[in-house]
Amino acid sequence: DIIRLNDPALFRQQCYVDGAWHAADNARALDVTDPSTGKVIGTVPEMAAAETRRAIAAADAALPSWRALPAKERSAIVHRWYELMLEHQEDLAVLMTREQGKPLAESRGEIAYAASFLQWFAEEAKRIYGDTIPGHQADKRIVVIKEPIGVCAAITPWNFPSAMITRKAGPALAAGCTMVLKPATATPFSALALAELAERAGVPRGVFNVVTGSASGIGGEMTSNPIVRKVTFTGSTEIGKVLLRQCAETVKKTSMELGGNAPFIVFDDADLDAAVEGAIASKYRNAGQTCVCANRLLVQESVYDEFARKLAARVSQLKVGDGREVGVTLGPLIDRKAVAKAQEHVDDAVAKGARVILGGKPHARGPCFYEPTILLDATPDMKIAREETFGPVAALFRFRDDTEAIAMANDTEFGLASYFYGRDISRVWRVAEGLEYGIVGVNTGLISTEVAPFGGVKESGLGREGSHYGIDDYLELKYICMSV
Ligand code: ADP
Repeated sequence: DIIRLNDPALFRQQCYVDGAWHAADNARALDVTDPSTGKVIGTVPEMAAAETRRAIAAADAALPSWRALPAKERSAIVHRWYELMLEHQEDLAVLMTREQGKPLAESRGEIAYAASFLQWFAEEAKRIYGDTIPGHQADKRIVVIKEPIGVCAAITPWNFPSAMITRKAGPALAAGCTMVLKPATATPFSALALAELAERAGVPRGVFNVVTGSASGIGGEMTSNPIVRKVTFTGSTEIGKVLLRQCAETVKKTSMELGGNAPFIVFDDADLDAAVEGAIASKYRNAGQTCVCANRLLVQESVYDEFARKLAARVSQLKVGDGREVGVTLGPLIDRKAVAKAQEHVDDAVAKGARVILGGKPHARGPCFYEPTILLDATPDMKIAREETFGPVAALFRFRDDTEAIAMANDTEFGLASYFYGRDISRVWRVAEGLEYGIVGVNTGLISTEVAPFGGVKESGLGREGSHYGIDDYLELKYICMSV
């Protein structure tokens, strides 16, 4: 079941370390499967600590000359990387759909989105301005400069196989840092294709390295090696906490984009049709497998039934299938475990009084597919209210007034994305300010863009990605005090 690309060299089955392609020391390889078909589409090296140590050493060796380049030169290289991603958008999208499952249209969109971070940070590279501060004594002059943190280690998830990489590698390389990346085991080919394009763009050897294989072996080396000055992670809160504990030993800087439990609130003055469209985009995109997916739909009681009816009508139009098929809008979940989790949440909700009005079981299309599902009468004691479902299951909760909606929305340890639909201007401000979240979408279900700061509060993480703030996560301040 081979992958056909216009440029076959983008399909790499080896790791990229110090500007060369490598197998694992033990010569072992891991299978990568297409979740739509269950078939193996290729293999990647099963690397561990020793190979990671060499990649970190390569990144360390490459650091002095990379950080010393004038910003304009680093910018040009990162910008070329961006252009190459767009030139190869179709091949990159095909690779992504095969290993991840999302519909081809969504993969194309992700490639453009991923590339946009390279473009944005290529531009920002030239604007890493410092500061001068009036001295505290007559003879003192104070200057603040910004410097790259150094060697960065990145660990990324499978739900956005390209974008979660570029929004770390883009600012890191733009700032003058070097990087070792461990992509998710389920989706390594998108990462390796990016490495191939980085090389073609002129990224010098050692500046960007990709190792695949054992999460604990690679992660353990990344978090314990003193050369690594920064660990940047996107994934679950559970693993994020493990990495934070491990990083404490050498006091590494960290960026953590962790889980969410996004509320999607529909007030009685909302445009219900717009709210339905927003809910579809936020809930069912990537088959519900994004950390900003609406996880709890909170609907005011006076519009509850009407919203549910409209949502069901729209969700039943979603077309489930292999992401390569024309017209498919809902692909498979990443693996069978993900299907089991969706089912567990549905069963738990039903046992506690929820009603299934659509779906509610695995989809006949194959073992990784789940039916687009809607549950009514969801309550806070259900698993679906507490944990990220990461599947195409919408649970509708009922609320009476704004105070109750905000309290319900904030009743979680997570604080990444939130959404609400309503039109009254003072309500809009009150609710936006009342939500304890890093991101608030008002009358929109789509909030991701490279120009805005993406990140969460509470247990959803540390740091921000994208926007002019995003490069700060890869910079240190140095204060120079001069006596004249
Ligand atoms: P997801 O639900 O996205 O798979 P995870 O947190 O399990 O979330 O995984 C995100 C990334 O973290 C993946 O690349 C995974 O391989 C990696 N990972 C998982 N466990 C560890 C670990 N103990 N140390 C380092 N990385 C890990």
